[in-house]
Amino acid sequence: MIRINDILDKITGYHSDADLDIVERAYVYSARVHAGQVRLSGEPYLMHPLEVANILADMRLDVVSVAAGILHDVLEDTRAEPEDLRKLFGPEVLNIVSGVTKLSNMPTSSTQERQAENIRKMFLAMADDIRVILIKLADRLHNMRTLRFHSPERRRAIAQETLDIYVSIAARLGIYWIKTELEENAFKYINPEEYARIENLVAKSRAEREQYIGTVRDTLRKTMQAAGLKAEVLGRSKNYFSIHSKMQAQSLTFEQIYDLIAFRIILDTVSQCYEALGLIHSLWKPIDHKFKDYIGRPKPNMYQSLHTTVIGPVGERIEIQIRTWEMDRVAKSGIAAHWSYKEGHRIDENISKKFAWIQDLVDNQESFRDPGEFLENVRIDLFPDEVYVFTPKGDIRALPKGATPVDFAYLIHTEVGQKCVGAKVNGQMVSLPYELRTGDIVEIVTAKNHTPSKDWLKFVKTIKARSKIRQWIKAQEKDRSISLGREMLEKAFRKEKLNFITLSKTDPMNAVVESLGVKTLDDLVANVGYGKLTPLQVLRPFMAKPQTEENRASLLEKLISRVRKKKPRAGVLVKGVEDILIKFGKCCQPVPGDAIIGYITQGYGVTVHRASCVNALRASPERQIEVEWSTESAERYPVKIQILSLDRVGLLADVASSISKFGANILNASSETKETQMVESFFTISVGDKEHLEKILSAVKKVKHVQDARRVG
Ligand code: MN
Repeated sequence: MIRINDILDKITGYHSDADLDIVERAYVYSARVHAGQVRLSGEPYLMHPLEVANILADMRLDVVSVAAGILHDVLEDTRAEPEDLRKLFGPEVLNIVSGVTKLSNMPTSSTQERQAENIRKMFLAMADDIRVILIKLADRLHNMRTLRFHSPERRRAIAQETLDIYVSIAARLGIYWIKTELEENAFKYINPEEYARIENLVAKSRAEREQYIGTVRDTLRKTMQAAGLKAEVLGRSKNYFSIHSKMQAQSLTFEQIYDLIAFRIILDTVSQCYEALGLIHSLWKPIDHKFKDYIGRPKPNMYQSLHTTVIGPVGERIEIQIRTWEMDRVAKSGIAAHWSYKEGHRIDENISKKFAWIQDLVDNQESFRDPGEFLENVRIDLFPDEVYVFTPKGDIRALPKGATPVDFAYLIHTEVGQKCVGAKVNGQMVSLPYELRTGDIVEIVTAKNHTPSKDWLKFVKTIKARSKIRQWIKAQEKDRSISLGREMLEKAFRKEKLNFITLSKTDPMNAVVESLGVKTLDDLVANVGYGKLTPLQVLRPFMAKPQTEENRASLLEKLISRVRKKKPRAGVLVKGVEDILIKFGKCCQPVPGDAIIGYITQGYGVTVHRASCVNALRASPERQIEVEWSTESAERYPVKIQILSLDRVGLLADVASSISKFGANILNASSETKETQMVESFFTISVGDKEHLEKILSAVKKVKHVQDARRVG
């Protein structure tokens, strides 16, 4: 059982003139407010904060950290008030203990794996003093050490959370001994069978392995000694979790894992490290790609070491780490090493107040090969330019610093962004440019017919929101420009007695679109609306056709004056013109029901073609005129049909009778026998409309031996 005196001795061990008073007072206060509380283990509650303080002392942290460690649970679990802590221990201790309490209240037990990374980042972002995180880690470490007193479900949940969040925070801060111990404990509770199996396998080969460790260690020691290097050589078995991970990652069996043992050589200076590396490589053959120089290129969390893997004396792989004592200390405390006591004297008070270690990094950046990148890494990992907010359901969303509810709305869904009218943050209505803060719970208020505002562009921070708002505004402007452009064009065309709508789907219009360098007709119309093109630019090609010197309007006028008195052919109406002479294209023989198109034929009137007729398509578009079938027509129209049949006696008579049965006259008929016993016949018949024709065709198809009957053209 740990005692306060053990902790005080430990602190004096790394900081001889530490002012222990604050630690002692924290102990007395904590004992008083936690009095009567017991842990699940049955121990007095006070044991927990003491163990946490002891872990902090193992990290060689300052007295404020250790005192805050002893007090870390008082705000949450006792009647102690923040004001009490401020009065008794000062604002620094209060700030740290409040930070720890704030993190404890964070909903981290989410089962969604995808949230783990955000939670880790949020954790780091929320703590404004790195010591808050260090205390959280020490707290979790002690809780993991005593996890066996919880129910199996709780154990599993806490262990999983430890693996998801705390292990990687410890790794990121470079505190590997905590990372390893958390990992090992979590593994034991999450996968007890596998843990027991590996434990058993390791135990079985223990004697043999220990002998092997002894041999290798002796060889290394003698080699260092012979070269005059003072070195500490340590050999250890790898922990179970890393064995398990290796088996999983590389699909190996236990027997296939050779490098169960890792060695560490600790020396006084950097040059001795490289010297030792040379000696080892001349002793045993190194595996090339396994060599890592973290001395020349430290990890972002300050870790430094040389790592090499060699083929050992019995042909087995051996992992060896080489480092100085100082590097070993950093590896144990991680970034805390740069913040805690150094060789018994305190870092300058001013710097150490907040993120002293960051300052330290800045001061030492010359020693890094790529200082910019290095600092960038530290900054992003520990104090990201991001805020972490919650949806009303408790999901975490990451946003850039300065992001607003509008950014959040667009992050949730574009639709939510477009319809966003307001937002509630932590239950209170806020303005849309409100700057979100980590921990905010954000609820977006939407309205059905609401649309984005140009003003939003002034304050949104995310690329998504910005581009979606821009897109929307652009689309809006285009819509407006299209209707304006169309209006202008129709007006301009009308002035020249042309119809823009009718002409818009013709080849000459496509040519105009191309010649003006736009992609589509819509773009052309929009450009007229924007004012980038004038209506005249679009109209001109239609006005100056060399073949028709007069424009279509005057042509029409002339035609109309010439044909007006003649009796019009009933059945077809020409838009806007009465009493005009109509004839039907012999090429395509339109009947009512067909889509039709009219062409002005000079000196005659209007010729009506089927819209699909090739001759119509060939005619110049400026002669085109809109026509439609009159509904009251009782006219009959000639149409040619083709019938394909096997030859037989009485065939034509049967076909003719089925045609007349439907009240159609046969105007003409011809037929021709082919070599293949087939007869091809052509009938010109008069029909009322398309439907009439179709009834006749299907009747003819039913005549014996007829294979096909269809309209020609
Ligand atoms: Mn605690």
